[in-house]
Amino acid sequence: MPDDGDDAPQVPIRCDECETTTRVPLPDVAEMVERHNDRLHDGDDVAEVDPELKDRLADIVAEDLRLLEE
Ligand SMILES: [Zn+2]
Repeated sequence: MPDDGDDAPQVPIRCDECETTTRVPLPDVAEMVERHNDRLHDGDDVAEVDPELKDRLADIVAEDLRLLEE
């Protein structure tokens, strides 16, 4: 993944209903997903982190936590 000079990894949020993919910094993902679903889908869980990335994301988060701990 290219580094944009931003130290937070970018994570794609995909919404099948809107047919959009938005890249947001990792720390904002949960908030962006919630806000999108809240505003556009009456709170339904339509938008989500790209499933292909979800597994990798868990690794990234785990790594981040490990880095913070040590
Ligand atoms: Zn949507």
